[in-house]
Amino acid sequence: MLAHEECYVGRSVLVTGGNRGIGLAIARGLADAGHKVAVTHRGSGAPEGLFGVQADVTDAEQIDAAFKQVEQHQGPVEVLVSNAGINDDTLLMRMSEEQFTRVVDANLTGAYRVAKRASRNMLRGKWGRFIFVSSVIGLSGGAGQVNYAASKAGLVGVARSLTRELGSRNITANVVAPGFIVTDMTNELTEDQRKAALAQIPSGRYGEAAEVAGVVRFLASDDAAYVNGAVLPVDGGLGMGH
Ligand code: NDP
Repeated sequence: MLAHEECYVGRSVLVTGGNRGIGLAIARGLADAGHKVAVTHRGSGAPEGLFGVQADVTDAEQIDAAFKQVEQHQGPVEVLVSNAGINDDTLLMRMSEEQFTRVVDANLTGAYRVAKRASRNMLRGKWGRFIFVSSVIGLSGGAGQVNYAASKAGLVGVARSLTRELGSRNITANVVAPGFIVTDMTNELTEDQRKAALAQIPSGRYGEAAEVAGVVRFLASDDAAYVNGAVLPVDGGLGMGH
């Protein structure tokens, strides 16, 4: 491990949904490693000490405007962490088409939009890192989560296609697949749902956002230069086997 050298180059980083939860932990972890970190938010403002740009990932014009601000502030985005995401769980029989497409639009099409906008400058700069925050659910599926699981599984296809398109240009595209991480998203679950999830986790505990951030920090570092098209679980063993 080249901890002391990890960040001899501070990269220009953008984390979508970096104003809270896992995204904020990722942004703080990358800033601590010496990178120049910007985050998107949807009106909450920038977290203390981080550069914030307002953008909803369902809107390509807002994304373009946000990238322009980041480029002016810290240079073209070299490390893109596509983290923004939502869920809207219900069984298939009850899931409206709007519920399905809204989740896919934010989680999957949103990732496509930001990746597309970032790619041209990564190509120009002959260096880039795409890191997509998926979920254990994208690989294992989840009852009541057809929309969410489809969006998260789709990110694997996006990352692996980018690896094939851009891998020879010094650009990597990887996926992080968190398990049960304590954030606002999981705090919405009922006590019974939380207990049922815990019973399935070999590590015997929920994960912390900082533990996802550590893996993202590795993927952004020079140590991960030859890791491409990978799906890295951060789930205490919950999803073992895929
Ligand atoms: P939170 O609900 O705590 O945070 C979600 C973040 O995404 C917020 O910053 C939110 O912004 C942002 N966001 C949502 N929709 C949009 C949008 N349309 N445009 C821009 N930003 C948006 O979730 P987590 O921190 O728990 O989750 C972060 C990521 O990790 C998600 O992709 C989630 O699916 C994934 N994940 C989470 C797990 C967990 O156990 N918590 C497990 C596996 C994956 P705002 O503050 O404006 O709402």
